[in-house]
Amino acid sequence: MEIITQPPSRALVVTPHPDDAEGGCGATMAKWIKEAGTEIVVVMCTNGDKGTSDREMAPEQLAATRQQEQRDASGILGVQGVVFLAYPDGTLEDSHRFRGQVVREIRRHRPEIIFCIDPYRSVSHTHRDHRMSGQVALDAAYSYAWSHLHFPEHIKEEGLAPHRVREAYLWSSESPDVFVDVENYLELKARSLSAHVSQMRRRTPEERLERIQEGAAQHGEAVGLAYAEAFRRIRFELGSMAWLYLHS
Ligand SMILES: [Zn+2]
Repeated sequence: MEIITQPPSRALVVTPHPDDAEGGCGATMAKWIKEAGTEIVVVMCTNGDKGTSDREMAPEQLAATRQQEQRDASGILGVQGVVFLAYPDGTLEDSHRFRGQVVREIRRHRPEIIFCIDPYRSVSHTHRDHRMSGQVALDAAYSYAWSHLHFPEHIKEEGLAPHRVREAYLWSSESPDVFVDVENYLELKARSLSAHVSQMRRRTPEERLERIQEGAAQHGEAVGLAYAEAFRRIRFELGSMAWLYLHS
């Protein structure tokens, strides 16, 4: 268990649907951007075009609405930019193309840390897009982005350079081990979630903030903080793998 007090200078958030990242690491994003000037880019993997029970709502219309909502939500937190990969909701696969797209964003933005959903669970289940986006983000960082031999077209044709990500922070984990004190950032988190208007009709903004406070208080208890966001941290130890790679 560790409380993180050193923000990175750059982070990349790989997230499946509009609103997942704000719920998972919204307060940490807001805090690091405001207090440390961390540059954060969000990679939005799907367009969320199936996130409705309204049978009159056309998927294309919903996708356009949710793209704008995501821009608004990220703007509230101070995020530098959102990259929309725009896969239809529910169709993410662990494909060569998808991995390449995430590798490209890692090489373009050059983050020390990536955030994603923890794809590995033993006692609970999660949406397929959540698993796929988490797995692809981790593989992109661990296996591919640092090697010039993977996706060499980024280097030869786009002028990008290989990049090593230092760590991944996984939200919605069954076993979080690092915590960020977010006491002063829960209102901003709630406001950014409220920007996802099409998804947030069930609760009032006040109820939303209350729920966020309850969750953050539970996470905080583990490390003696009033309110925290919690992550499972994976450190990418690439030394031995790079050696094997170069000598095989
Ligand atoms: Zn989702």
